[in-house]
Amino acid sequence: MFKALLLQKNEQGEFKASIEQLEESQLPETGDVLVQISHSTLNYKDGLAICNKSPVVRHWPMVAGIDGAGTVLESAHPGFKPGDEVILNGFGVGETHWGCLAEKAKLKGDWLIKRPEGLSAAQAMAIGTAGYTAMLCVLGLEKSGVKPNSGEILVTGATGGVGSVAIALLSKLGYTVVATSGKPEQAEFLKSLGASEVMDRKLFSEPGKPLQRERWAGVVDCVGSHTLANACAQTKYGGTVTACGLAQGMDLPSSVAPFILRGVALKGIDSVMAPLQVRENAWRRLASDLDLKKLENLTRTIPLDGAIEAAGQIMAGTNTGRILITI
Ligand code: NDP
Repeated sequence: MFKALLLQKNEQGEFKASIEQLEESQLPETGDVLVQISHSTLNYKDGLAICNKSPVVRHWPMVAGIDGAGTVLESAHPGFKPGDEVILNGFGVGETHWGCLAEKAKLKGDWLIKRPEGLSAAQAMAIGTAGYTAMLCVLGLEKSGVKPNSGEILVTGATGGVGSVAIALLSKLGYTVVATSGKPEQAEFLKSLGASEVMDRKLFSEPGKPLQRERWAGVVDCVGSHTLANACAQTKYGGTVTACGLAQGMDLPSSVAPFILRGVALKGIDSVMAPLQVRENAWRRLASDLDLKKLENLTRTIPLDGAIEAAGQIMAGTNTGRILITI
């Protein structure tokens, strides 16, 4: 038997999230590597799934958890053997395939990467999909030629998991970071991560003009909707906006003006299906470029039993930083 956070829907469509004991024989046969999960985490998508807020879960019942770190127990995959330390992010785990908010998970070896040297399982899950997505955004800015001396970088949804790790990464790399947040009481926390200024997110969340005063050399946007539209409208000539999130909304009420009149680039960031090479590079960079003291300061640790309540805080928008789950 193993313990897991199970999401269920009955024939009447009633939803239930609970901690259950499950049989190992119930684990999905499509997985070829059995992993003893030591740590997991809660991301925005886990919040959506655990609170049944949007159709994240595609099969019922589902074990939640899009991220996991642990030790291989059994493997029929040539790339892994018992004892290997691995991490898993995305690939539909916790959505279409039983996830990692559980003591055991049966995963596809093609989805796993070896845990990078220099990061413990706890640190890897404190980073989780959110931190790895922040790294993908930073890599996107770098690839577009945005350098520390190009100008200020705007990070929206700053107190969230992606935003807080993005600030820590960018500031360590020498960028000047401006954060937007709806939590004025967290301004000092954001400055301790490396933000030079914290702006009220209300300045971005209402409809704005298609072209506004040019300020940002680059943007990490976790929020979407009017915030993303305004960020594009304020991006300097030739700058790059990386869009990874939808905390305000899925819509993009914008015009082509920033793109065709200022050569602004809008770069989409997807962590879920990113190819292995991209993932491994992002994790290598996280191991070298993230200040682990800052990571510790932006992470709170809770047991699996506390995951359902914490998911509610993510959905209420009251969470700050990253949530590490010890299994
Ligand atoms: P969190 O819940 O940790 O943070 C989201 C932050 O967005 C909040 O802390 C809040 O920050 C801000 N926010 C919340 N509600 C609103 C609102 N209505 N309007 C404006 N801002 C709001 O989530 P994550 O950081 O983990 O994820 C951020 C986004 O990125 C999510 O939409 C998530 O789905 C997406 N994501 C996408 C991935 C991808 O592969 N593309 C991977 C991982 C995440 P504050 O109070 O400081 O303003």
